Amino acid sequence: MIIYIAYVIFDCNLLMNNRLQLHQVALLRATINTMENGLSEILERLARAERELEQMRSGLGLLGVKRCSTCQAFFHSTDSAALFADGGESVCYGCIPTWWPARSETLPSIDRLPIEHRLVRWLVAHHNARLIQQSHKLPDESVQEFRLLTSCEQCEGTGKLLGGHCHYCGSQGAMWLVVPRVAD
Ligand SMILES: [Zn+2]
Ligand SMILES: [Zn+2]
Repeated sequence: MIIYIAYVIFDCNLLMNNRLQLHQVALLRATINTMENGLSEILERLARAERELEQMRSGLGLLGVKRCSTCQAFFHSTDSAALFADGGESVCYGCIPTWWPARSETLPSIDRLPIEHRLVRWLVAHHNARLIQQSHKLPDESVQEFRLLTSCEQCEGTGKLLGGHCHYCGSQGAMWLVVPRVAD
């Protein structure tokens, strides 16, 4: 009799445990469903926001306005001194000193050199930058807005030109590009 009662109690416990587990599984399923619905709603909202952003971008393009991809400031696209276009991104003059060193590190030299040379030409044409061969000829820090060490475009950074030494960079393959500080 005692054995029978013990068996019934054991059986009831097993049944209750099974029911509890089933209940937990059902709860888990309901939670997963809610999470899935929430996730698809978030993805839908993100896709909508992306579409709206793209429309805003084309709208700004029609108005002749472009945005710096670093500081997000707006500039007139007709102002060629304001933004430098590196192909994928447009970066404003103010962001160049911090943007270029970080960006150039991520590029292999085959991709970096053409952009670097375009950047040098842009800074020379629009911001009175000068190429300086020797470090001791650099102007005083107080009159420099910023400076960048660039590969010589003439010898592609090799220091050699037409079988001889490159006289543009003094065979160093690199030169300083100094952008002068503009007085307020
Ligand atoms: Zn900027
Ligand atoms: Zn050179």
